[in-house]
Parts: sequence; structure tokens; C-alpha cells
Amino acid sequence: MREKLFYMMANLCSRGFEDRIQQGESRYSKQEIECLQFKKFIKLYRYAFGHIPFYKKKYERAGLSLSSLSCYADIKRVPCLSRQELIEQQELLHRRQGVTFLESGGTTGARVHTQLNKSIAVKRYEMLLQILYRVGWQISMPSAAFYSNEYRYSTNFFPLLRRGQLNKLIFDFIQQYVIYGFFHNRKNIYFGSELFVQNNADRYLRPVWNKKPVLLIARPDVITVLIKQGKIKGVDFRPIKSIVTVGNMLTESTRSLIEEVFSATVYNMYASTELGYIGVSCPGSGVSVHVDDENYIVEVADNDQNEIVVTDFNNYMLPLIRYKSSDVGEYAPRKCFCGRSGQVLCLRGRTRRFILSDTENKIYEYDVIEFFEQFKDIINYQIVRRPDQQLSMNIGGGQSKGDKDQILVDFCDSFKIDPRRVLLESDGELIRSPSGKVCCLV
Ligand SMILES: [Zn+2]
Repeated sequence: MREKLFYMMANLCSRGFEDRIQQGESRYSKQEIECLQFKKFIKLYRYAFGHIPFYKKKYERAGLSLSSLSCYADIKRVPCLSRQELIEQQELLHRRQGVTFLESGGTTGARVHTQLNKSIAVKRYEMLLQILYRVGWQISMPSAAFYSNEYRYSTNFFPLLRRGQLNKLIFDFIQQYVIYGFFHNRKNIYFGSELFVQNNADRYLRPVWNKKPVLLIARPDVITVLIKQGKIKGVDFRPIKSIVTVGNMLTESTRSLIEEVFSATVYNMYASTELGYIGVSCPGSGVSVHVDDENYIVEVADNDQNEIVVTDFNNYMLPLIRYKSSDVGEYAPRKCFCGRSGQVLCLRGRTRRFILSDTENKIYEYDVIEFFEQFKDIINYQIVRRPDQQLSMNIGGGQSKGDKDQILVDFCDSFKIDPRRVLLESDGELIRSPSGKVCCLV
């Protein structure tokens, strides 16, 4: 009943919506997908060149014209857009006022403000729904999601009202209560940064058990910390069919831990506020994600940074063409076990967030998480980079001082770091991002 009503409304809003969700994903050969991507790229490039003076100037400076690109390989001639440029120029890049806007969490400092009009909002939602269907959930099946407090409707209500942003108030209301609350049958569980320190997993997990969800959506660090706290308190974990993690780094060992504890299949989603849903893993790909090649071109920059560069074909309100995402990754070395063609991406961390070993190797968040996850009784950990290549290591949990000293030695051994560079700070205050994220490497 709920499903019928949903698709009736969705089809009215966007013709053929139900068919697109139900048909499953299309499979293309490499040539077919490149041909499709090139067509979409050219269309977006010409639009940006013709309508957005910022891009016209940028491309002309690079010696390009409206008709410069003639084959797939030419895409690499188009200069990239950095996150800094986007932040500085975002007013110039936006075409006009949309029905709503999204703001990035500001983990890296300045926030990116992404305008969406109706068709982009619908398209993004359609992409999300396709992913959720692929992981085995359908409209009206019970689901649950962990959200940080900053996304709570009531938190944002008065600030938005004061700024006169009625469009966003209405949009968020429909999204939260009508679409997610009613049609997705979803229980949202909100948390603040106290979740990481209070050792009160039961409070957050009880609403999940009450909902009996088929699908749980959460940040991987949030689920992992709840598992660790729950195990200490003897919480009885119950099975959940599918868990989608999104928002920060999922590693192989955290994926296995989550799968084991919840008897779930874990899907890693690669998404960002400004770019949307770029890809998701499959049961055969581990934490690596299958890129949505029909909606994005994802490149890995050829420099030592391995920065992920993304072109989003859909957002004409804010065209992001060869946008440097600040994420670091690499292509998977072989084809996925599921047999799907197309790109598979392994994510490692953020461009500026790494430790340099004594042998000049870059150690990213992925490596730091994998290291600490070997120690099952460490609940919180954080490496803070100090001036002059010094590091402080903060470990919270039931470890003795001697154990912590040993962990420090192991850490330095594994990553080839001189122990004199690292200072142990037991149970110190963890540094949090403006949006409350506790990152393992700051
Ligand atoms: Zn696969």
C-alpha cells in the first residue's frame, strides 16, 4: 500500500520513475560506457563554457575553445577544478536559486554550498534509491539510520527560519518526515560527539532493535565504536540484513567486524555532499566501490597524490568538471568477483591528511585504522600531527600504560617512524571536527 502510493506520487513527480528503479542496473561494455561518458561530458563542458564566465575564462586560459574536445582522451586536456577554487568561486559557479541547498560538513574547514533544483534533487534521490534496492531494501521495509545532531530537523529549524530559507525548510520536512520517515519507514537515531566517549551503546542501539530494520545506514566509525562499547557492556547484537556505511573511511577489518557482529552484508558507499552518490561496493568487492559510470567519470590523478578527480554529469546548477575531491584512492588491481565491468575504486584517505614515514612513505587514514583495529580493546584512538613531523598518539580504552607503550613501538615499527617523533598521550581529549567527527588522523 505504502509502496503503491509512493510510486504513484514519484511517477507524477518524474515520469517513468518506478521503471527506472525497478529495472536494475544496465551493463555496458567499456567502449559503450566511454562513448556515453564522452557525450555527457561534452554536453556539460559546452554548457559550462557557454553559460558560466568562470569556466569560460579558466578554459580559455588553458587554450581550449567550445569545440576543442573531439575524443575521450581529450577530457584530460580540461583543467581540474580544485576544492579551494570551488569554495572561493561558488557564488559565480551557481546559476540561480534552487529548491534547496546542501552544505558539506566542513571537516576540512570551509563549507561547500551545493544548490539543487527540482530535477537534480529527484535525480540524486533516484540514484540513492537504486543503491538501496541493490542492497536488498525496498520502499516501506523498516530501516534505521544514525545521523549526527547537526542534521536534525529541529536543530536547523529556527536558524533556517531566521535566515528566511523557507524553501529548504519545506524541502527538508518532506525529505525527513514524508520520504524517509513514512515511505522509507526509517527510524533516525541522532548522536553528538558524546557517543564516542560515554560508553553508552545501549542507548543508541535500543531504538535500532525496536525498529527491526532490514537496512541500517551509518558512518563506519560510529558503528565500530558502538560495537566496541556494546561488547564491554555485554549488549546482545541482533542480525540486520544490510548495512550501508557512508561518510568516512571503511577498512577491511572494520567491514569484517561489522559483518560478523550484525550477521549483515556491509556495503561501502562513496558519496559527498557536492557530488552525490559516486559508487557503492558489492558483496564481492570488499570495501572497494563500483563507480556509477553512467553518472560520473572518476579519474585518479597521475601525480604522487593519487587524488580522486570526479566529473558529475547531472548537476547543471553547479557543474563540477574534473573536480579534485580531496580524496585519495587507486583503481582496484583486478576485476571484481561479481563480474561487473567498470571502474572499481579503493579509497585511502584525504589528500592533506597523511603521516610521512622516515622513508617518505605516505601513511593515510586507511592504514592508521587498520593498524589500531588489530587491538580489540582499544575503543578510541587518534594520531595528531604536530609541527616538525612530530606526532602525538592518543589511545583511550582499557589498556595499561605498558600496553600502550608497546602499541607505540609496534606503530613505529610497522610504519618505519622514529619513536622519538611520537609522544604518547593517554586518555587525552580527542580532537573533533567542526561537525563533531572524530578523525583517527588530524
Ligand atoms: Zn562487484
